[in-house]
Amino acid sequence: MELQGQVAIITGGARGIGRATTIELAAAGARVLINYQRSASAAEALAAEIVANGGDAFAYQANVTDEQAVASMVQAALERWGRIDVLVNNAGITADAPLARLRPEQWQQVIETDLTSVFLCCRAAVPIMRAAGYGRIVSVSSLAALAGNVGQTNYAAAKAGIIGLSRSLAREVARDGITVNVVAPGYIETDMVETVPEALRAWALQAIALGRFGRPEEVAAAIRFLVSPRASYITGHVLTIDGGWVMP
Ligand code: NDP
Repeated sequence: MELQGQVAIITGGARGIGRATTIELAAAGARVLINYQRSASAAEALAAEIVANGGDAFAYQANVTDEQAVASMVQAALERWGRIDVLVNNAGITADAPLARLRPEQWQQVIETDLTSVFLCCRAAVPIMRAAGYGRIVSVSSLAALAGNVGQTNYAAAKAGIIGLSRSLAREVARDGITVNVVAPGYIETDMVETVPEALRAWALQAIALGRFGRPEEVAAAIRFLVSPRASYITGHVLTIDGGWVMP
């Protein structure tokens, strides 16, 4: 129960990697704000399940690209629990197309959802963490940021942006007791990768040393460690979670 008494916000916390992370952090003792945009029933059900198991959680609807909505979300956690110790920036989308066919709105949509959201959430949470002299921020990037991926120039740019943002912020807030880290998953079995064409899946599987895609729980376990007090000397780090696909 290494997060006992702490408060965590998980964006996109009701589905996929976010859901697994919410469950992990609640199991570690954290009180969790489960952010969602569209998945209201999944978020409400997950919050109810955590409460039924003796934890504390609530679901909060906010579009993480909306500055005002993000500010209200952070305020809601603060009003309810009086502190924010952990922020997991997990919400993200893809809108894939080869660059020549990538429409400006697809570019904009992915940059805003996957990168600007991280800026907005960090900006809202950091002053609270700074005042407390403690905080843990982990953002979910992607292997695409490091290795590139055909059809994902927008997504890779946004996810690489998260790394630059996080390393800069890590330097800015290190003396305030706040660490800022990044996880970069490879293929993880969630709704997001269901649309990956079969040929691409087969190619990826032979390139992944462990010979399989990852599970959301395997990303959540790494996030749980990085947001724990035990990860106190790790900041500005990018942890790949890819079954040994890319070994930089
Ligand atoms: P899912 O599609 O299963 O979940 C995406 C989550 O993002 C949902 O909870 C969704 O909430 C939330 N979300 C999307 N847009 C917004 C928004 N504007 N405001 C608030 N929430 C939003 O994907 P994954 O679980 O696979 O992905 C989670 C993260 O992991 C993403 O950042 C993704 O890029 C990253 N990632 C995933 C990999 C994979 O292979 N699966 C690999 C590498 C990185 P709701 O349903 O409520 O709308």
